[in-house]
Amino acid sequence: MNVKRNTRRQQPAALEALLAEVRACRACAQQLPLGPRPVVRAGAGARILIVGQAPGTRVHQTGIPWNDASGERLRQWLGVDDATFCDASQFAIIPMGFCYPGRGKSGDNPPRPECAPLWMDRLLAQLPSIALTLLVGQYAQRHFLGARRKPTLTETVRAWQDYAPAYIPLPHPSPRNQPWLKQHPWFEAEVLPMLRARVARILPQGQASG
Ligand code: SF4
Repeated sequence: MNVKRNTRRQQPAALEALLAEVRACRACAQQLPLGPRPVVRAGAGARILIVGQAPGTRVHQTGIPWNDASGERLRQWLGVDDATFCDASQFAIIPMGFCYPGRGKSGDNPPRPECAPLWMDRLLAQLPSIALTLLVGQYAQRHFLGARRKPTLTETVRAWQDYAPAYIPLPHPSPRNQPWLKQHPWFEAEVLPMLRARVARILPQGQASG
């Protein structure tokens, strides 16, 4: 028996089975104002992992990750078009919370705390080809960087070289973050060109404009 070929065949099936389990999750259903609708995308062999916060209402309604104004800006940052971004064999998209968590006084609630401990490590174990993980926002940075984080998100993003080559910490690309981008011009001048270059090197030729 060819063990290598067998392993390659089994791996996507294991990931698919796990994703089916995720989609059936109801672990924190009582806390979700719109009910469970886990929004996760991952294909075996994916090279770039994007870890965001949690779906907003538009993503909840459509079931499509980053299908909103934040996603448009994120794709610009990465230098990729919609088709490339949606290619699960290239991009795995796994937020810290998979379902819309509701709204508080100052915007959407944090990702549900039950979610990442239940699913993150199991999903990552099925994604052995990830070459780069983008940590979008404070929750992803806290989970993956732990004590290596700087005191603020701004300082963590600015210290991106400390986390290379495995991770790149990013602010959230929400339009609400426009003032942050204006206040920190080094992000567009220094971090985004590096980000686009990394993405372009990892994707198959011709799939990124960076
Ligand atoms: S947020 Fe996560 S833990 Fe809660 S129901 Fe959705 S998938 Fe399950």
